[in-house]
Amino acid sequence: MKVTEHIKKANGKTLFSFEIVTPVKGKNIQDLYNNIDPLMEFNPPFIDVTTSREEYVYVEKNGLLDRKTVRKRPGTLGISVSLKHKYNVDPVPHILCGGFTKEETEYMLVDCHYLEIDNVVALRGDAMKHQKYFEPTKGGHTYACELVQQITDLNNGKFLHEENLTQFKTDFCIGVAGYPEKHMEAPSLQTDLKRLKAKVDAGADYVVTQMFFDNQKYFDFVEMAKAAGINIPIIPGIKPLAVNRHLQLLPHVFSIDLPEELINAVDACKDNKAVRQVGIEWAIKQSKELKAAGVPVLHYYSMGKSDNVQAIAEALF
Ligand code: FAD
Repeated sequence: MKVTEHIKKANGKTLFSFEIVTPVKGKNIQDLYNNIDPLMEFNPPFIDVTTSREEYVYVEKNGLLDRKTVRKRPGTLGISVSLKHKYNVDPVPHILCGGFTKEETEYMLVDCHYLEIDNVVALRGDAMKHQKYFEPTKGGHTYACELVQQITDLNNGKFLHEENLTQFKTDFCIGVAGYPEKHMEAPSLQTDLKRLKAKVDAGADYVVTQMFFDNQKYFDFVEMAKAAGINIPIIPGIKPLAVNRHLQLLPHVFSIDLPEELINAVDACKDNKAVRQVGIEWAIKQSKELKAAGVPVLHYYSMGKSDNVQAIAEALF
């Protein structure tokens, strides 16, 4: 079932969902299940599965360094299907521009269709680790709106290279990313919203936001998006802060601000166990306010260990 149908069916009730990161190559999938199992009692109707793009590694060979291209976290499609069968939920694989040609994307989408996956999130992806800025993959898309258009085309039976196979139509519900504090490369929030509107015009059905720690940023973003003509559900993404290092890491990696009150509370902690508790309490406070404001879904970035998301869900659902 589509994410938008789950939202409609919930009839105003806030749903619980979360995102999982595919395991590093060679790791057992059981660790992932062990983290998902305790979250299933909160009835997530869908679970997002991230995609990681390729990176360069250097392997020593005969005293010389040989550059290899590797994908360290493969398995998005396999894990998506295993979630569907093991937990009877709708998996939402993330589809990236970066690292994939348009043809590879088409094949992935055809596989998703055969595997009865109803939802995908269309993203540009970040730059490769050695790059300062995102560079499009040869034969791939430059911006997420182009990827959304490719998926919409396939929903209309339009394959690449002008092959019209109208007897084969996919019917994907398409999610896209939104940034309450603007995307780090956007010159302004207004411009970023114009780019978001282009994704909606290309066929996006709902938005999931980047993490934020100040709800007012989300509420303002939703208002500005409405004013820009964006009238699809905007799902807030919540990340519980978990370690002291997040005070530097999260603003650096995601270009977001942290509220002074949260910084002070983390600084006062004597160890990371205490920080994790502060993160849980902050996310509970945020989630309660968002739920009271009637958000369609509370979507959590679980990133590895899920005990904190479990504690938050227990307080909310
Ligand atoms: P876009 O919408 O293409 O925007 C990227 C930048 O380009 C923005 O600054 C935008 O303003 C600008 N822009 C857009 N269109 C134009 C245009 N026509 N002309 C000029 N500028 C333009 N990354 C992963 O690698 N894997 C994941 O699984 C993943 N999941 C994510 C899930 C969520 C909910 C979010 C919020 C992010 C996720 N990301 C993931 C990170 C994401 O790939 C990065 O934030 C990336 O830098 C931008 O992706 P986007 O889809 O928002 O790009």
